[in-house]
Amino acid sequence: MKYIGAHVSASGGIGNAVLNAEAIGANAFALFTRNQRSWTSKPLTPDEIHAFRQLCSERGFEPQHILPHDSYLINLGNPDEEALVKSRTAFHDELFRCQQLGLGLLNFHPGSHLNQMGEEACLDQIAEEINRALERTEGVAAVIENTAGQGTNMGFKFGQIARIISGINDKSRVGVCIDTCHTFAAGYDLSTDMGYQFTFDEFEREIGFKYLRAVHLNDSKKGCGSRVDRHETIGNGCIGAEFFARFMHDMRFDEMPIILETPDPARWAEEILWLRSL
Ligand SMILES: [Zn+2]
Ligand SMILES: [Zn+2]
Repeated sequence: MKYIGAHVSASGGIGNAVLNAEAIGANAFALFTRNQRSWTSKPLTPDEIHAFRQLCSERGFEPQHILPHDSYLINLGNPDEEALVKSRTAFHDELFRCQQLGLGLLNFHPGSHLNQMGEEACLDQIAEEINRALERTEGVAAVIENTAGQGTNMGFKFGQIARIISGINDKSRVGVCIDTCHTFAAGYDLSTDMGYQFTFDEFEREIGFKYLRAVHLNDSKKGCGSRVDRHETIGNGCIGAEFFARFMHDMRFDEMPIILETPDPARWAEEILWLRSL
């Protein structure tokens, strides 16, 4: 079974994310558990935590289908020690919040080397930072998202993600989120039947589907290999409708959160219905 939702707004309180997900006919969702543009955030109150957990169980959302996303400010690959400490503190807080909410996944972008360190050293530093955060928390898996490879972002080749995973001490608490727009922009051609087979064979060979914990399902405004991250509504971009039909019939993507991050929230309900009709 496919669990499909979107990255919904949590403004006015994290409980609102649950209601926003229900309103678009989702059976999965993503959210920010703190202000994604700020380094600091008030701790969750016991009341907020209780209300969120209660709403999720009332409205039928299970923790394994909820995919919190961390703040965009965090860069675990930052070569500057002072800046890295800020990211480390915030990342730990993100994982801790998930733990408090009874959630099992935290989705994040691996990090960027900012042209101040080598790619491999950057990937190894990211793995060390993940280890450090996992040791200080319990039960939440760090879910690494592949990137489009904009600027100095790491994680746009499956092999780079494999290198991070190889450095993680507790492999049961690391996973991967495939973003289809990022995959395509990074040069994996999901728009054709052959490209689809090749991409996911390569994913299996380099990383392994056993690490796949979530999907960000987006079409792409920019071409294959552009390394530009611009999401498009499902079926209306360069990846195209055929891909989504193949995807919906592929059981390797069952039982995990499939999250739309497409640009028009007003169309999410319609996009989810269309995917289900395939
Ligand atoms: Zn994404
Ligand atoms: Zn993106």
